[in-house]
Amino acid sequence: MRFSTRAIHDGQPADPTTGSIMTPIYQTSTYVQQAPGVHKGFEYARTDNPTRNALEANLASLEEARHGICFGSGLAATDAVLKLFSSGDHIVAGNDLYGGTFRLFTEVFGRFGLEFSFVDACVPQLVRDAIRPETKLIWLETPTNPLLKICDIAQIAEICNDRSILLAVDNTFSTPYLQRPISLGANLVVHSTTKYLGGHSDVIGGAVITSSDEIAEKIKYLQNAVGAVPGPMDCFLTMRGTKTLAVRLDRHCENAARIAGFLYDHPAVARVYYPGLPDHPGHELAAKQMSQFGGMVSFVLHGESEEEAKELVTRTRVFRLAESLGGVESLIEHAVSMTHGSIPPEERRKSGLSDGLIRLSIGIEDIEDLLEDIGAALETTSQ
Ligand SMILES: *Cc1c(COP(=O)(O)O)cnc(C)c1O
Repeated sequence: MRFSTRAIHDGQPADPTTGSIMTPIYQTSTYVQQAPGVHKGFEYARTDNPTRNALEANLASLEEARHGICFGSGLAATDAVLKLFSSGDHIVAGNDLYGGTFRLFTEVFGRFGLEFSFVDACVPQLVRDAIRPETKLIWLETPTNPLLKICDIAQIAEICNDRSILLAVDNTFSTPYLQRPISLGANLVVHSTTKYLGGHSDVIGGAVITSSDEIAEKIKYLQNAVGAVPGPMDCFLTMRGTKTLAVRLDRHCENAARIAGFLYDHPAVARVYYPGLPDHPGHELAAKQMSQFGGMVSFVLHGESEEEAKELVTRTRVFRLAESLGGVESLIEHAVSMTHGSIPPEERRKSGLSDGLIRLSIGIEDIEDLLEDIGAALETTSQ
């Protein structure tokens, strides 16, 4: 079956007891046994829950992988991946990352002896140069957040394969509808399902996806041993989201391309970051690696003033001022004071993240309303 069909059906056969077409929310903590150890495959709901299992199968199918393991948030999923490693192990990560991922790496796992190098992973040679004998993992986001740079997954997978290093890709920005890292050679995909997969800004969740039985067994062990599991209601909401992923993403991408073009031509705007623009440095690679260019657009005004950016983000009406992304509604934010506040200024300067950067998550509203809204906010700026 093809993507949109799998999104609606995979992992979700009719409920065996009633025929319910929607997977029930199994709101239970435990399961009755016939005799000690004699049961229907379920013992305790931290270990297994049928609603969660349905979501896990659905996400694995969408990434064209064998296993999905779900967590209570995207960061809990990332945490599980890092717990595959031990004190003294070294990880190379892209230097333009979700702020919370950077904080988890450096502030939390740094204290437990994991070592990190942050490089511009859009230059594969820099990734190769950062590898040490203790390197166990390469961690990528592509498109990166918030600069929307593109890293070559297949080329970095080759660097990893040559050295038995694992490659993990945070695929939150693209979703499997636009990009499937495992088929490009990645060993692990991580998602914040909070974003496009859930898609309606009403649930927090995360997932790790892999085709390796060995890695899946270890992640599943950590899911149960650590216990950062999502509740059944949250799994249900996320699954309801994935059913419409393809239609939503088509509109997100279409609207984002229009907004990027509008900003590109606007006299108050100095730079637009959007991989769909022909002069974006990663444009060709994005066209090869992704099926469309995504729903995120960043930009800076002339002068790159932090104050002016902070003011502009309060002036839109349809675009709401909020962190997060990937929901049906359009959001606007000032990256440095909001989503990327946990990245120290010297790291931000190294990655090229301007204090004036404004990030947009383009929703699926009518494009004319979005254009008018951002246009009106910018008009005040240019006067
Ligand atoms: C939001 C986000 C995360 C963290 O996910 P949570 O669900 O908020 O824990 C990780 N990576 C990216 C790219 C994100 O946008």
